Amino acid sequence: MARIAVIGAGMGAMAAAARLAVAGHRVTVYERSQTYGGSLGRHADEGFAFDTGPGLLHLPAVYRDLFVKTGKEPLERCVTLAQVDPASRHVFADGTAVSLPNASRAGTVAALDAALGGGAGTKWGAFLDRARDAWDRSRRPLLEEPLRPDWQVLARDPYPAEERRRLLRPARRAGTVAEIGAWELADPRLAALLDGYALGYGLDPLRAPASAALLPYMEETFGSWYVMGGMRALARAVYERCLARKVEFAFGAEVARVVEKDGRAAGVELADGTVAEADRVVLGARPRPDLVPGQELWDEGDVTVQPRAGGAGAAGRFVVLLALRGGRPADAVHRTVVHPADGAAERAAVFGGRTAAHPTVTVLRPDDPSTRPDAAHEAVTLTATVAPHGPVDWTDEALRARYADTLIDAAGAAVPGLRERVLHTWVRTPVETAADTGAEGGAVPAPALAGAGGGFLHAANRTRLPGLLLAGGWSHPGGGLAHAGMSGALVAGTVVEGDGFRGSQ
Ligand SMILES: Cc1cc2nc3c(=O)[nH]c(=O)nc-3n(C[C@H](O)[C@H](O)[C@H](O)COP(=O)(O)OP(=O)(O)OC[C@H]3O[C@@H](n4cnc5c(N)ncnc54)[C@H](O)[C@@H]3O)c2cc1C
Repeated sequence: MARIAVIGAGMGAMAAAARLAVAGHRVTVYERSQTYGGSLGRHADEGFAFDTGPGLLHLPAVYRDLFVKTGKEPLERCVTLAQVDPASRHVFADGTAVSLPNASRAGTVAALDAALGGGAGTKWGAFLDRARDAWDRSRRPLLEEPLRPDWQVLARDPYPAEERRRLLRPARRAGTVAEIGAWELADPRLAALLDGYALGYGLDPLRAPASAALLPYMEETFGSWYVMGGMRALARAVYERCLARKVEFAFGAEVARVVEKDGRAAGVELADGTVAEADRVVLGARPRPDLVPGQELWDEGDVTVQPRAGGAGAAGRFVVLLALRGGRPADAVHRTVVHPADGAAERAAVFGGRTAAHPTVTVLRPDDPSTRPDAAHEAVTLTATVAPHGPVDWTDEALRARYADTLIDAAGAAVPGLRERVLHTWVRTPVETAADTGAEGGAVPAPALAGAGGGFLHAANRTRLPGLLLAGGWSHPGGGLAHAGMSGALVAGTVVEGDGFRGSQ
């Protein structure tokens, strides 16, 4: 039995902690804030309640597996998962709108054919076939295995792009999300649909490798799920599972640095100077050089900690929480994405460190009584992907108010009469995300992707300092609720089975 110190109580770290405790280790989680969950926060005020992080769960299998492997009670007995159907509605700049059913390939194709015409559904279906190949080829070497020492094999893009023959010019294949949109989908609305998926995960469509196609494939194949009571209920369930497995939590315990002894990680030093010895340390937050002084966690040959292609840095989120008068209509769609006319201008702004005049806005209207004081009111959340704090000063009150207005304007296309219904507005920016997660600039890590020369991979779970492992969205296989959960399984597997661990069978 080893003593294991886990830094941070985010989802990746807690997933690792529960699994390590089941394997017989003594695990203590040191969390700088007063609560668990990291990004999975809840804002409750005036009888309204909102998720402040992700609003939907994709790939619930990751958390089902965690609950199966760590105890008797399956996930579904600990939280109520509701399928979101339609999975999303899309409103395009030309006024066309389409609702995509949950986890129904045939339904999605039919809906796109009917709404967009011109064989759009068939084209999207053929794209999803290629995306499935990217998913199949990514699962094993990328998502379900620790990052291989010969990670260069992941530098090649697994998306089987169509060859586009051109008169008197060399044939070409799409290498990025934007190129798939322009060359394979060839309908500005389908291109906007694909760009929206990439942007939603914080990826720049212009730079993100074509393998990002697996993100819509993942959502459209395995479905979109809402956790009743809010996504934080999932964090609570994982926290409670940790407690049931005798994981100890120290809240208000900021780790100042990882203690090193004889060339190994030997514990953590807290901000108040207290040292807690440990045989292994799991860092579940964004790695910073000052946390491990004098140690290069990775050298130039290794994979960088954040996607290199992120330009001004990984993107953040701007979130507007709206308390509305008037009830939620029974036929309201849970998630609507309002696409702007000029996606190129938006991504140039977001990844160039500016605010976009017309952002892609995701509107969430959960059908959940716990989010509102009564049936005569509704809680709605608007989200846009934005540049992190730094290039944009998100403490600027005037900017925050102005940008909230921009989102409310756009969201009017999804919720008619929205502005007139607003009782109260709360704004959350990358500054608030930084406070919740400790990530510099309030950046939100994107999922790792193969391709682009390895520029979208994340740091390996194993580091150069023996005994120090990385979990959570800033490490392999990257950010997002599902991916961070996978990192927990990979870290636990590496500790339990040793360096030869190549993923669970
Ligand atoms: C606004 C927003 C929207 C998002 N939307 C989506 C989405 O739509 N889909 C999706 O899949 N994902 C989304 N995400 C990302 C997703 O929530 C995370 O990737 C996921 O929860 C995994 O988080 P994590 O394990 O990396 O930990 P984090 O959530 O980053 O938490 C890190 C924890 O570590 C603690 N910590 C940091 N430094 C220290 C220290 N030195 N000592 C002690 N404790 C420390 C922090 O306080 C925090 O509790 C979103 C995130 C945000 C913020």
